[in-house]
Amino acid sequence: MAPNILAFRENGSTLLQRGQSLKIINTHGTQVVDLWAFSSSAPSLSYLSMHHTRASLMKLSPRKGDTMVNNMRAPMLTLVQDTTPGIHDTLFAACDPRRYSLLGVEGYHASCAENLMKGLQRHTDVVNIGQLGGTEFNGTTPGPLNLFMNIEAEKVSDGGKMSAAPPTAGEGDYVVLKAEMDCVVVLSACPMDIVPVNGEGEKGVEWEVLD
Ligand SMILES: [Zn+2]
Repeated sequence: MAPNILAFRENGSTLLQRGQSLKIINTHGTQVVDLWAFSSSAPSLSYLSMHHTRASLMKLSPRKGDTMVNNMRAPMLTLVQDTTPGIHDTLFAACDPRRYSLLGVEGYHASCAENLMKGLQRHTDVVNIGQLGGTEFNGTTPGPLNLFMNIEAEKVSDGGKMSAAPPTAGEGDYVVLKAEMDCVVVLSACPMDIVPVNGEGEKGVEWEVLD
């Protein structure tokens, strides 16, 4: 079966059984993809957590072979393949309506936070989105794994400044994430077009579930 297309600004989602994997292909090498995962069996909201993952890995960003954890510190996703130079971000909050407003956008702008809620609406039977405040953006968006996002950070002792640049992925580079528990994964092809986190030219990615 051909991979699913995830167009620029759009969301995608899928249920993964433990042991299944998700392949995300940066078709043009230009697209940042925000990714979230939610346990599909936990009674209360349990989600992939970047700050717990950084503490678990003692790294700013996962590399091939690293297992990311949820907010209960349980293994959730393992980065099993990565053909990119390995630059991904765990520090930046998802873009959201307030972010675009602060950047001077007037009126509506698509955002990763909205894409998350749209994606989760397909899975309300297994994820309690009420615990995220329902479908309206209210600031409760969990910190995403920002695949392909190129944020450089200085050492804290050097000032700790951060800078944003386009992805380092090449055309067709991909990552594969293996589920360590049953979960729902939501993807957002980041709609950011003001700060240069996405590359020039055609955008969008492809994704598929691997057994
Ligand atoms: Zn975004």
